[in-house]
Order: sequence, then C-alpha cells, then structure tokens
Amino acid sequence: ADSVFSNVESAPPIEVFQMSKLYNESTDPNKVNLGVGAYRTDEGKPWVLPVVSTAELQMANDRTLNHEYLPVAGLPDFRSAALGLLFGSDHKVITENRVEGFQALGGTGALRLAAEFSKKVLQFDTVYVSSPTWGNHKGVFKAAGFSNIKEYRYWDAESRGLNLPGMLEDLMAAPPKSMVILHAVAHNPTGVDATKEQWGEIARVCKEKQLFVLLDCAYQGFASGNLDEDAWACRFFANQDVDLFVAQSFSKNFGLYNERIGNLAVVTKDPKKLPEIRSQMEIMIRIMWSNPPNHGARIVATVLNNKAYYDDWKGQIMTMASRIQKMREELADNLKKLGTPGNWDHIVKQIGMFSFTGLTPKQVEYMISKHVYMLGSGRISIAGLTPKNVQYVAKCMDEAVRAY
Ligand code: PLP
Repeated sequence: ADSVFSNVESAPPIEVFQMSKLYNESTDPNKVNLGVGAYRTDEGKPWVLPVVSTAELQMANDRTLNHEYLPVAGLPDFRSAALGLLFGSDHKVITENRVEGFQALGGTGALRLAAEFSKKVLQFDTVYVSSPTWGNHKGVFKAAGFSNIKEYRYWDAESRGLNLPGMLEDLMAAPPKSMVILHAVAHNPTGVDATKEQWGEIARVCKEKQLFVLLDCAYQGFASGNLDEDAWACRFFANQDVDLFVAQSFSKNFGLYNERIGNLAVVTKDPKKLPEIRSQMEIMIRIMWSNPPNHGARIVATVLNNKAYYDDWKGQIMTMASRIQKMREELADNLKKLGTPGNWDHIVKQIGMFSFTGLTPKQVEYMISKHVYMLGSGRISIAGLTPKNVQYVAKCMDEAVRAY
C-alpha cells in the first residue's frame, strides 16, 4: 500500500539556509557568505564570546546545578535580568510591577508565544508587519491562526530610507483591534530605523488608533554597541502607559544562536491582571514546548547578574558592533574607489547586521554566480564581510551594477 507520505511535496527552500548550503558546497576560493545573519570575526569565523565561555565553565564546575525541569515560565534569574536589561532596572514598569517575562525559544519563540496569546486569549486576528520585514513574521502569526496579515509601508526604495508618511497612513487606516509588529532596533532586512522624533509620531498613531504593539527586539546592543541606546524605542513605548509585548532575543548579542534563548516581556497597564496573564501564558508554553531549555538561560543570567561579567560582555558587544561598522565603511569606500554608479552612502548609514543594498534580483543573481551568496531581496549580512573579502565583494557589486 501507498505510504501516508506518498503525496508529500517539497516545500520551497528556506532562502538563508539555501545560501549557506551553496556557500558550503562551493569550491571557489573567493566564496563569501553574506546570507545568514550571524556574527563573524575578521577571519570569517563564528565567535564564542569569551564571557560566555567563562560562564559555561563556571556552570560546568558548579555541583549545585542539575538538570531538573525549570519552571514553565523559565529560569527566574534569567527572566528578571532580561527585563532589567531591556527597560533599565529602575524603569516604572518594573518598579510598578507591571511587567512579566516569559522565557522562550529564541526571539522566534517569544514572537510565537505573543501570537498564540494574542489570538487565543485576546482574540486578535489582524496583524500589521512592515514592508518588507523579517522573513518569519508572517509565517509565525499565520501558524498561530491570524487570518489577516497586513503590511504597512516602511522602505522607500528611492531614498533608501524610511517611508514615514506611508507608514503612518497605513497604521492610521488599521481597523480596531489590530496588532502591529515594530522592529525595536536595527530593522531587518533594511537596516533603516526611525529617528527618535519619528518614533514619537509612530507611538502617537499607535496610541490614537489603539493598536496593540509588539516590539521585536532582536539586536539590543548589537546595533550601536550601546545597550541603552538600542533599547530606546522599547523604553519609550513602555513610558506611554500602554499594553505592550516585547520579544527579546539573545541570539545575536550573546552569540547564542543555537541555544534558543529569548524572552517575551509583557507590559500591562493594569498590574492586577498579571496573575491571570501568567497562568494563561503558562498553559500556552506547556502546550507548545512544555518546558524551556536551561543552558542559554543560565548563561545569560550568569553574565547579567555579575557586574564584572556584565562589563566584559558590554566590551564584547562593542567589539562586534564596531567591526560591523568598520566593514560598512570599507565596503562603501571600496565602491567609491571603483566609481561604482549610484550612491552607496546608505550602506554606512544603515544600522545593525544587515544592509539592504538596493541590488536588483538580476544583480543578485550575478553576485551569486561570483560565489557571493546573498538574499534575492538585496540584503547582505555585513558580518560576513572581512578585510580579506571586502574588496572582492565590492568588485562583484561594481560589475553587477554596471552589467545589469
Ligand atoms: N526577529 C528579527 C527581526 C530577527 O532578525 C531575528 C533573527 O534573525 C529574530 C527575530 C529571531 O531570532 P532568534 O534566532 O532568537 O529566534
């Protein structure tokens, strides 16, 4: 008899992992992987943060630790430290006891938990995401049962910057009971963030239209090198006396990609409702992953709760953010030297791990034929650039722009 799987068809490949595969398979000595959003050193290697190694050694030697289940909502030391990092430990949402954190499987898990709760408990059904946005937002909300996944304008191709009027117009037109996902810092994929003044206008519209905001904060500290600066938008929203979700990821700023460590911060106007929120969240977590993993949570808690480690970590974040900034400048300088047609200032102005280069699909195809792997949207991970390959990448971009 036929297998139950006989009619299963292949799903389309996941683009970033497809690029890594092509990169790994390529035998070209000049090959460069600018697809995956993961930090690389000047040698193009992954980096285990020294402070993470220190924490791991300490954990391995600590005989008081064990592998019992954690609380369903996660490691308490991790959850409180994550909230303190996000808002600042003296922020009113913390001192007024209006926020709770829920450990999640990376930033993605935090988003999924937020989506589940919003759909099943709060009965939201409409969510707005930026155009363009991180490739997973729509899928995560769709999987949680959202039937209306809408876009607000964000990227302005002409100025290679933010289309604020378009964004505000689209948010103004959102029906009642809509959620909106905002990238807290280092917008993925465009690398274009709102200015503080622009954030003020965005918050004003969200408040006026009673949009329920979910801030996706995947790059705190990684963007500017400064943890407080990168948390500015989150703190600003939390100051507005609104209900709020913030999905925190520690994948990038701790280099803990495969430990799947994130936190969903739930800010409520009404602190009396926290016990009910907590109990519903625990049911959702119980059903989705039952119990959270320990290792990444313990590392983050160990570092954030120890002043000396915390200071080391801040230095290491700065190392990553500065190297990325330097590579932005080198790429732009190389293009300038080549006289590549067009204006490339946006590469330096954009923030975070990515640059939305503005290369067209045809030009991207050319880059890939030259073994420079990047996304069809024109997004490159700046972290994949090194002093050794940046010249080659610029040369390929130059050729692509001239030929197509
Ligand atoms: N949100 C955004 C905007 C991201 O760029 C990422 C990672 O690329 C995530 C969420 C998810 O991160 P994590 O790997 O922690 O699930």
